[in-house]
Amino acid sequence: MSKKIVFLDRDGVINEYPGDGLYVLSKEQLRVFPYAGESIRRLKEAGYLVYIISNQACVSKGLISVEALKDMTGYLLSSLEQGQELIDGVYYCTHREEENCPYRKPSPALILEALRTCGISKDELNSSSFFIGDSLRDVKAAKAANLKSIIVLSGRESIERKDSWEVKPDYIFKDLKEAVDFIVKNPKD
Ligand SMILES: [Mg+2]
Ligand SMILES: [Zn+2]
Repeated sequence: MSKKIVFLDRDGVINEYPGDGLYVLSKEQLRVFPYAGESIRRLKEAGYLVYIISNQACVSKGLISVEALKDMTGYLLSSLEQGQELIDGVYYCTHREEENCPYRKPSPALILEALRTCGISKDELNSSSFFIGDSLRDVKAAKAANLKSIIVLSGRESIERKDSWEVKPDYIFKDLKEAVDFIVKNPKD
């Protein structure tokens, strides 16, 4: 049986985008979109594994500690999941761009790491596995991992900039809720 996975970026997809060059540094600043938990629950009901893959260079910049990020992740998961287990894994690259970490998006390395962890080879992936992100970096990572790429307009990118995008996503939706509407209505096994 082929496996279906949806990878989610965090900021701008699950919670409000903090702004260019800014970071979410505390639970108070982590404003989870009201539709996020329900959207992820619908993905799980449709048989998807769900992983979060996020760059958080704020750690390397010394703006937040690893412990505080871990704490924030725990808070994020409990507010999304409401007692159910919905998220299969959360992966961060905590390095700055100039550190050339091999795991930092647009590298697909964290996606591939998640696949390894759940014992799925790229070939076993159903053609309807997706990466939902709000930046071109997410689209590049998705393409490098052979995933369908979705950009949502609830974060970094706006539709006005579409013509200047250096990579084209497979799909564009307003937000995570609309992306999930599309995914669950288009079963392709
Ligand atoms: Mg983002
Ligand atoms: Zn890294």
